[in-house]
Amino acid sequence: MEKKICSECKEEKSLTEFNLHHVHVKEGVSKYRGLCKSCESKWKHDFYQRPENKEKRKVYNLRHAKKRKTWKQKPKVKAKAREYAKEYARKYPERIQNSYWKRRFGITLHDYQELLKKQNFRCAICGSEKPNGGPRMKKLAVDHSKKSGEIRGLLCFNCNVGLGAFKDSRDILQKAVDYLGRY
Ligand SMILES: [Zn+2]
Ligand SMILES: [Zn+2]
Repeated sequence: MEKKICSECKEEKSLTEFNLHHVHVKEGVSKYRGLCKSCESKWKHDFYQRPENKEKRKVYNLRHAKKRKTWKQKPKVKAKAREYAKEYARKYPERIQNSYWKRRFGITLHDYQELLKKQNFRCAICGSEKPNGGPRMKKLAVDHSKKSGEIRGLLCFNCNVGLGAFKDSRDILQKAVDYLGRY
């Protein structure tokens, strides 16, 4: 395996650690970049963080936003993007699931499973193992505090809706308990 010294970190690394710069057709050789992959990505990141470059980028993005939009509408491009998304989903099913969980519930699937374990795989209020929300509900719901947005726990459908019906109010719930106690 051929090696090359990175001009930034001065480490000798195999060529696979360098991005291809171009292929010199006449000479039939591949030219690699001077910086190794990790140094190059760091450099790029720093470069785009500089305020003057951030500004330039903003202007560029604004100018090209429209072009990009029409380009994205082309059937060929659309089909390719769809294919790529499919391929990505096949390659990284956990990433897709995790981003869905992040978007939908604000936690990763891993976080959810940790919570579930902590609750002994049961609803935090009634202790039901079933989500109780009909056939489409496969998992206990993630219950957020309406005030702080903080996750309180995992609840079955009934308990989750129940809390909402009582407006998350301890006061009202206590009154309901007292009321039930009277009969
Ligand atoms: Zn390097
Ligand atoms: Zn419950």
